[in-house]
Amino acid sequence: MLKLYNSLTREKEEFRPLGGEATMYGCGPTVYNYAHIGNWRSFVFYDLLRRYLEYAGWPVNLAMNFTDVDDKTIRGSRAEGVPLKEFTRKYEEAFKKDSRKLNILPPRVYARATEHVNDMVRLVVRLRDRGLAYRAEDGSTYFDVSEFKGYGKLSHLDLGELREGASGRVSVDEYGKEEARDFALWKAWSEEDGDVYWDTVLGRGRPGWHVECSAMSQKYLGETIDVHAGGVDLIFPHHENEIAQSEGATGKPFVRYWVHCEHLLVDGRKMSKSLANFYTLHDLEEKGFKPVALRYFYLSAHYRSQLNFTLDALTQAQRTVEKLNDFVLRVRSAPNAENGVVTDALQTALKGFENAMDDDLDTANALPYLFEAVRVVNSEIEGRACVPVKDVLDFLMRVNSVLGVIDFAREEIPARIQKLVCEREKAREQKDFAKSDELRNKIRGEGFVVEDSAGGPRVRKA
Ligand code: AMP
Ligand code: ZN
Repeated sequence: MLKLYNSLTREKEEFRPLGGEATMYGCGPTVYNYAHIGNWRSFVFYDLLRRYLEYAGWPVNLAMNFTDVDDKTIRGSRAEGVPLKEFTRKYEEAFKKDSRKLNILPPRVYARATEHVNDMVRLVVRLRDRGLAYRAEDGSTYFDVSEFKGYGKLSHLDLGELREGASGRVSVDEYGKEEARDFALWKAWSEEDGDVYWDTVLGRGRPGWHVECSAMSQKYLGETIDVHAGGVDLIFPHHENEIAQSEGATGKPFVRYWVHCEHLLVDGRKMSKSLANFYTLHDLEEKGFKPVALRYFYLSAHYRSQLNFTLDALTQAQRTVEKLNDFVLRVRSAPNAENGVVTDALQTALKGFENAMDDDLDTANALPYLFEAVRVVNSEIEGRACVPVKDVLDFLMRVNSVLGVIDFAREEIPARIQKLVCEREKAREQKDFAKSDELRNKIRGEGFVVEDSAGGPRVRKA
C-alpha cells in the first residue's frame, strides 16, 4: 500500500486515485534558459512518482506545462532581441532532449501556456463573476485573497498577518511569504512587454504565471486532480495561488495529494551562477558523465531530504550504474538453472524494495535491496553455481521499470545457449573434459564463445 507525504496535511497518506487512473500534474519548466541540475532533480522526481504509481497498478494521466510566457521569458527574449516564440522553443526542445537522456518518460500532454490563453481568460472571468477577482486602476486583474477563505492553507500562512498585508497588491510573478497580497491574474500591457500581448475581454495584456497552471490542469485533468508535483520553492506563492484560483472558480477541492521535492545543493550551497557551482546536463556531459549517472545520484537520496551534489558523488554514481550494467551482461552469460537459493533471495529483495517505495518513495532505503540481490547472485556465479537467469533478469527489469537506470539494450544470450553453458559447467565439475569440449564446440557452432574467467564462465557473441 503506497503512502505519500501530502504537503497540505503534512502527513503520509494512503494513495488512492479517484478514478481508474491517476491524474497527475507537474509544474514544468520556465523555458527562458537551459534547465540546471537542481531543476532536473524535480523533474526526475516527477518521473519516479509517475513510474511507481504505474508500478503500483494505476496508469497515470500526466500533464506538464511549458511556461513560455511570464516575466522571465519576456525579459530574456527582449534582452536577446528575438521573438518570444523563437526564444522559448529553443529551450523547450533542449528540455525534451535532456529529458530523454535522463530516461524521463514523456507525459501524455505537454501544454504551452501561450496556446491556452483563452482557457486562462475564461477562468479569470469565472473568478470575477464570483467576486474573487477585480480590475485595478492599472487595468490588470487581481485575485482578492481576502475573499478566499482557504488562502494560506498549503504554505500554512498565518492568516492574521496575511489580512494586514492583504491591503496591497503584487504584480510580479515571484515574491516571498512576507509579501503575500492580492496577486495578478491578468497583467495589463506595459512597455516592457513589447509585442507580447493578447486582446481579450480582460483588456490588452497577458496572463500571470500562476493562472497558467490552474487553467491547463483543469483543461486536461479535470476540476479535481489526484496528484500535483513541484519543487519546494513552488509551495509559496505558486501553488498557494493555484489553489485559490482553482478552488475559487470551481468550489471543489483542486488537488488530493500535493507532493514537493526538496532542493539540490551543490558543494553544500545554493546553486548560483556567481558561485560557479551552476551546472546544466550539458556541462556534466562535457566532463564525461553519462546523464543516467545523474539520475542514479538523485535516486540515492529520499526526495524530501536536501541532496548535496559533488563531482565525486557523481563519479561514484556513474561507477555504480556501470556495475549494474556489467551485472546484467554477467547474468545473461551465466549458466542457467531452474531455480534455487537465488529465487528466494530475489523474492525477499523485491518485497523489501516495494515496502521501501511504498513508504513515500523511499529510494534511499529501496536501493540496498537491489544490491543485496546483486550480491547473492554474484556470489552464486563466482561459486560456479548455475543461476535462474530469467528470474534474475525479470527482477532487474521490474526494479528498473521504477528506477530507469539500467541499460538492457546490450547483447542478449539466448536461453538455449545458456543451457549448453550450464551443461558444460556440470561436465567440467565432473572432470568429463571430453564432453565439456564437445559442448564448447557446439556453443561455438551456434555463434557464441564461452570463456572461463575467475568469476565463472562468460558467454558472448563470437
Ligand atoms: P522553473 O523552471 O524555475 O519553473 O523550475 C522548474 C522546477 O525546478 C520547479 O519544480 C522548481 O521547484 C525546481 N527547482 C528549482 N531549483 C531547484 C533546486 N535547486 N533543487 C530542486 N528543484 C529545483
Ligand atoms: Zn505550475
